[in-house]
Formats: sequence, structure tokens, C-alpha cells
Amino acid sequence: MTAVQADRNDATVGHTAAAAIDVGSDGSGGAAIDRRGGQGQSGTGDGAGRGEFDLIRRFFDRGPVRDALLGIGDDCALLAPRDPRSVLAVSTDLLLEGRHFAAGIDPVAIGHKSLAVNLSDLAAIGALPRAFTLALALPQYDEAWLSGFCTGLFALADRHRCELIGGDTTRGPRTICITVFGEVPAATALRRDGAQPGDDLWVSGTLGAAARAVEERARAVGEHARAVEEHAGVVDERARASAGQAVPSDPAGAARLDYPQPRIELGLALRHLARSAIDLSDGLLGDLAHITERSRVGAEVDWPSVPADPCLGDLPGNEQRRLALAGGDDYELLFSAAPENRTAIAAIGARLALPLTRIGRIVDGSTVRVLDARGRPLPMTIAGYDHFGTG
Ligand code: ADP
Ligand code: MG
Repeated sequence: MTAVQADRNDATVGHTAAAAIDVGSDGSGGAAIDRRGGQGQSGTGDGAGRGEFDLIRRFFDRGPVRDALLGIGDDCALLAPRDPRSVLAVSTDLLLEGRHFAAGIDPVAIGHKSLAVNLSDLAAIGALPRAFTLALALPQYDEAWLSGFCTGLFALADRHRCELIGGDTTRGPRTICITVFGEVPAATALRRDGAQPGDDLWVSGTLGAAARAVEERARAVGEHARAVEEHAGVVDERARASAGQAVPSDPAGAARLDYPQPRIELGLALRHLARSAIDLSDGLLGDLAHITERSRVGAEVDWPSVPADPCLGDLPGNEQRRLALAGGDDYELLFSAAPENRTAIAAIGARLALPLTRIGRIVDGSTVRVLDARGRPLPMTIAGYDHFGTG
């Protein structure tokens, strides 16, 4: 019996002799979702017996590519920058069930978020989205899950004209790995290493709503998270930190967490205005440290200017600071720009109907400080972001 069949020996799987050539996925003994496709019969009702190629054809191959030169169905996709002066911007993110999303999360949200986090990286470097590949491991051929996943995935992909051009599919613990390809003129790419002392520091949107939703959800499933941790040794650090805290529910925060909006238009508009940029996935202070380290500069953040999300309003000041400055998953853009660009940047915010807030400045040195209303440093460290004073 092959590994494929052993994997699902609870199902009645029949194949014609002609179709029974089992193609090992990679010679490692790991099992691909059955490549023979279509001819198997299954008593499970979960689509087992359909093959990998059937899955790709039904869910991921949407006909001839519109933008790339060659898409799904060949050994490689072929893609050329539209603008010959541009270069390709490439980024990958890996999402694991139980680590980056819980088992019960709506597959529509998972489809959205797995592409959104990648598009956010393109936004942060000022690239125009072009295409993506999707590597997918699934425990079984689950049609309901796949169709929800595709709904979320393709709604966002179509909105940004980002085309699926290939991927890989195998059986295994639910894992989603997307690689996005964008294009940007090399000279105007918004890199992390371009910040200069004297730059203003800006952030888009509001901060902290997603982090609050993470903690609220973790609290709701606290027992489950602890069980996962015991069994797999894996649990989100933020979930661990917040277990047992009482936080009221906020559906808008949950939407911010599950449906982050990549700031593509902002990234494109900032190409000639910003000197450095990063997207906020791990929290403002941690991500700001990436800019200051790469640019060999320091920074000051004026806490009263930071656009904490209104949903944090009922929390004590130190909790608001913790969530807005160190909470993750906002997927807003943090960028630095010369002061002479203030008016132009404000105009972009107005055009995109997206708040753009000046929250501090780049300075000489190598430290990141958070200042209170009177310009005094708040007690904190970047690594230990919960070491805030009270009030
Ligand atoms: P290869 O043997 O070259 O790895 P595969 O047989 O794995 O190719 O895949 C066949 C075709 O389907 C390829 O063009 C591949 O890019 C595409 N493909 C496989 N899985 C996916 C997926 N999850 N999403 C989109 N395209 C996929
Ligand atoms: Mg393959």
C-alpha cells in the first residue's frame, strides 16, 4: 500500500488498473493528494478519491492567464515586468494552522488573509502587484473549505489584479504558502534602509484593534490554546501573554484581524515621497526597530500622536500603549519622509480616505524612544514591550 492510500485507509478507494500509477510527490515518502484524479470512489463524502489535478482544475485554474505570459499547467509560469525599467519585487509568507490561524477560523478569512499579508509586503516596498503562487498542504480534499478559501483569496486577488500563476498541492497539516510578485522601479523601492535623521515618521490607519481581537479570541479559546501548546509545543506568544485577561468583545477589531487591507495604493503613491517604509505585522515598535537598524538611525515616537484605534478607548492608558505600540497584525504602513513632503503626503491621505498621521521623527543614534505629552521618555524597552509605566 502506498503512503497515499495508507493516509486515508478509512476510505474505500478504488481505481482502474490503468490509473493506478502512484506518483510519489518528491520521493521522500510524503504523500501527495492522489494525482490520479476523478476515478476513485470514496465513502467519506469529503471528496477523497478526487485527485490533485482535479482539485487544481476545479479551484485554482481560472482559465488563460490575462497578465502573465504563462500560468498554471506548465513546469514554470512566465512573467515579465510591464515596465522595462522596473524590477520584480518578491515576497513569501507561510501560514500554519494552529500557529497563525486557529482550526475553526472561517476559510474565507483564511483565503483573504494569506494573500493580504503578502500584498502588504508589496505595499511596503511600493510595488504594483502582478502575480502570486500558492503552495498548499491540506489534510483532505475538503470542498467546502476549498471553496470558502478561494472566495476570500480571489476576491482580494481580483481587487488588486494579482493573478494566480502556479503553485503546488500536497496532503499534510493545513499549511498555506503564498509567494507574490510585484514590480517597482528599483530607484523608488521603499526600502527599510533609507531613513535619514530629520525625517518625519508617519503611520497609516489606526493601531491596536487587531491585537486586541487576538487577545480576546485567545482568551475565549484559552483552554484550547493551552491544550494545543501542551500537545504541539506551539502557541502564539500573544495568545500566551493574554490568557486570562478580561477584554470585552469588538466585532470591528475581529474584522481588522481577519480581513486586513493591504495598503497597496498608499505604497504606490509614496514611491517618490517616502525614504523608508515597512508594513506593521509585529507591532509598531518592533517594526520601527527594523527600519532604525537597517538605516543605522534612532527614532522618537510621540505617544500622544499615535493613532490608537478608537476601540481601545475603554482600556487603561498602559494597556492602550501596549496594544497600539506593540500589538501586531495591523498591516498598516510605517514610513519616513523628509519634512518638505508633509503637504503632499497629507494630500495622499485625503485622496485615499486613509488617515496618515505624523507620529515622530528619525534621529541620530540607534535608540527608539517613546515620549509622553511633555516630551519625556516613557519607561519601556523594545524587546520587553510590556514594561510600560502606568497611567
Ligand atoms: P510540477 O510537477 O511541475 O511541480 P504539479 O504537477 O505540481 O507541477 O502542478 C501542475 C500545475 O499546477 C503547475 O503548473 C503548478 O504550478 C500548478 N499548481 C499546482 N498546485 C497549485 C495550486 N495550489 N495553485 C495554483 N496552481 C497550482
Ligand atoms: Mg508540484
